[in-house]
Amino acid sequence: MTNIRIGNGYDIHRLVSDRALILGGVNIPHELGLLGHSDADVLTHAIMDAMLGALSLGDIGHYFPPTDPQWAGADSLVLLNQVHQLICTQGWQIGNIDSVVVAERPKLKLHIEKMRDKLAAVLQLQPNQIGIKATTNEKLGPVGREEGICAYAVVLLVAADSFK
Ligand SMILES: [Zn+2]
Repeated sequence: MTNIRIGNGYDIHRLVSDRALILGGVNIPHELGLLGHSDADVLTHAIMDAMLGALSLGDIGHYFPPTDPQWAGADSLVLLNQVHQLICTQGWQIGNIDSVVVAERPKLKLHIEKMRDKLAAVLQLQPNQIGIKATTNEKLGPVGREEGICAYAVVLLVAADSFK
């Protein structure tokens, strides 16, 4: 009987003016922000997709379709909480998360601790169970040209009953 599962997630959103830049639930001062139906928190979306993927439950587009006005401008941490409830209901908990945000600008280093704290609070984890790395794309491709920001995440789920 398998008591661990692994999932990976990827997301990208376009950078535009007149939008807030929210990553890992943290509002980051920048002259550009991410475009999307919700708050376009690309890091939180990648993590949610990794959590769903670990249990072969599909992707966030299935649960929170961009055509549904209910999710317009949604706080992605609220959506993350719903995905977390879903995996808990299915008898799983998070072992750890590792993630990478790829952004040419702004510098994200100063904001990472706050992102970990925000995500840990929603997921009822210790911040040291959540890895967040920030890198640039060395000016290559759409991310390098600052047309967008993307994020990758891997999550390990552990069967809740393996702790009993
Ligand atoms: Zn997204």
